Amino acid sequence: MNYQQILESIRRDIEPLKCEGKQADYIPALAAVDPDQWGICIDTLDGHQYKLGDANVPFSLQSISKVFALTMALSLAGDDLWQRMGKEPSGTAFNSLIQLELEHGKPRNPFINAGAIVMADLLVERLSNPEQAFINLARDLSGQPSIDYNFEVARSEHGVAYLNTAIANLLKYHGNIVGDIDRVLRFYFMMCSIEMSCEQLAHAFLAFANHREPFDHAGFRLTASQVKRMNAIMQTCGFYDEAGEFSYLVGLPGKSGVGGGIAAVFPGQYSVAVWSPRLNAKGNSVMGLKSLELLTTQSRQSIF
Ligand code: GLN
Repeated sequence: MNYQQILESIRRDIEPLKCEGKQADYIPALAAVDPDQWGICIDTLDGHQYKLGDANVPFSLQSISKVFALTMALSLAGDDLWQRMGKEPSGTAFNSLIQLELEHGKPRNPFINAGAIVMADLLVERLSNPEQAFINLARDLSGQPSIDYNFEVARSEHGVAYLNTAIANLLKYHGNIVGDIDRVLRFYFMMCSIEMSCEQLAHAFLAFANHREPFDHAGFRLTASQVKRMNAIMQTCGFYDEAGEFSYLVGLPGKSGVGGGIAAVFPGQYSVAVWSPRLNAKGNSVMGLKSLELLTTQSRQSIF
């Protein structure tokens, strides 16, 4: 497959969308990012890499980090995790409170904020240094010891965390947070603030594309079956209230973040990371979505 040629053609085809949408501005530090950037990188399981555009520029992973959090939580708690959250698509915004109230503090899935905040609580409770364990995993998966948190972004988000604090309080009220709310949120914002380039993120997601192999990175282990199931959750829950649309247009398991990044995998073949800060109304990257739609259409490869 000539992926490089496909990437060139994608770059031409997304050009008309370049002014559509706007970057997340509810986190002050993200509002300052130059919105007119786009990069993409594909890593194949047989060791090839294809990239184009701003593929080496680090960006804020935001909710993509929830995939790493789930890796750690599943590795530590196994299926007990599902007593504290579901694995159904939410059909609501990533930071919605409504469903959480109706469902008595049990988040629909690990990839909405409420689910990730419960996972942060679990990791704070079980690990002596969760921040260190999380960054170790990210460094190991990406193969880059230089990967780090952006403390400024974490602080900036914590400073305006009205909605996430409300979510955490509702969780605590229903007994689904064990620890101190402020400690748990501090770790949650740190996880969101981690930065990678498309090149580093594609590399980090190769472990999930390799769904027939057990996962063993930085002390966290998953069986091949658990890796397969992580893909299933990415497929059904990776794009908040646009998971159906992503499945329809792209047909790959993936996860997006309000930093404008999307990571996806074609199980058994490749991982791909794309980034462009301008978001649609649901909080997903406009050019990122279109790029992946074109990738699976032009390559005629998807899980369907
Ligand atoms: N840190 C962001 C938040 O909690 C993550 C949201 C996202 O990427 N969808 O609002």
